[in-house]
Amino acid sequence: MQPNEALLTVDDLCVEYRTPRGPVRAVDHVSFSIAHGEVFGLAGESGSGKSTIAHAIMRILHPPAVITGGHVNFSGDDVLEMDGDELARFRWRDVSMVFQSAMNALNPVMTIGEQICDVIQCHLRLSKADSMDKAAHLLDLVGIERSRLAAYPHQLSGGMRQRAVIAIALALNPPLMIMDEPTTALDVVVQKEILQQISDLKDKMGFSILFITHDMSLMVEFSDRIGIMYAGEIVETADAHDVFNNPQHPYTRGLMSSFPSLVGPKVKLTGIPGSPPDMGKPPSGCRFHPRCDQAMAICSLQRPALREVAPVHRAACHLYELTGVTPRTERGTL
Ligand code: SF4
Repeated sequence: MQPNEALLTVDDLCVEYRTPRGPVRAVDHVSFSIAHGEVFGLAGESGSGKSTIAHAIMRILHPPAVITGGHVNFSGDDVLEMDGDELARFRWRDVSMVFQSAMNALNPVMTIGEQICDVIQCHLRLSKADSMDKAAHLLDLVGIERSRLAAYPHQLSGGMRQRAVIAIALALNPPLMIMDEPTTALDVVVQKEILQQISDLKDKMGFSILFITHDMSLMVEFSDRIGIMYAGEIVETADAHDVFNNPQHPYTRGLMSSFPSLVGPKVKLTGIPGSPPDMGKPPSGCRFHPRCDQAMAICSLQRPALREVAPVHRAACHLYELTGVTPRTERGTL
């Protein structure tokens, strides 16, 4: 199905951490949307605000984090205005979440079957036997033997635990799944298997995904569209293919040149000099300017707006305002 209609819209979202040193704005006027059946990826270095956005969408931010502005709209409902009962229905029935560490997400003293049934019985009026049947079916879907319903998390491998977490996320057949670094703790072979399985399930069940990772190769392979985050802001959005072949923002180009291509001639990996800024005192103007090899005088003075640089391709960089186009980097395929 060609994704076209917005299921989730995040508009001008701002999140601050109220620290003793003063407010730290971790998410700064971020906007994006996710269509039905679409995989939208959020990429960027650790601390860029990706997970904070996911937690804000689910309304599971804890103090000192506070949503200070913007809107989150899910299927016509204003998520930031939902009361307790509405949120209880919204979470898991409308949007579920797969966290990075399955061991932390699972209860160590409950069996996998009990944990899946817990979610089912919390939201659906099903008997214990029917819930267990549904749990067994969910294990089938994620490729775990039904006998593992009786297993405790420590009795499963890392890959199986993450599959069990995905089964729990699928329990209510939600239209949107948020996957926050879902395979980061796993080896590359298991990573690939699990992402392929999620992709097959998505095609079969039709849900959308907000996919969060700092791994650009996984991001490009798995996502339809990508938003690149730097220091709390989205600095580039485009189709995954365009981000890979024609990254326009100097930060995205740095990210793309930080991992090797499996095909084509050997090229030296250049990466990005320096480190992400202290968000308590972010750089003036373009927040990337202290690390940017194309920085100009204006870059430390004025914040660039996110603007269209090609069809369905936006970037926040002064180079486009001054010269119209930056040199493009052509890469081979993954
Ligand atoms: Fe680099 Fe300036 Fe563009 Fe920022 S606005 S990415 S510093 S060229």
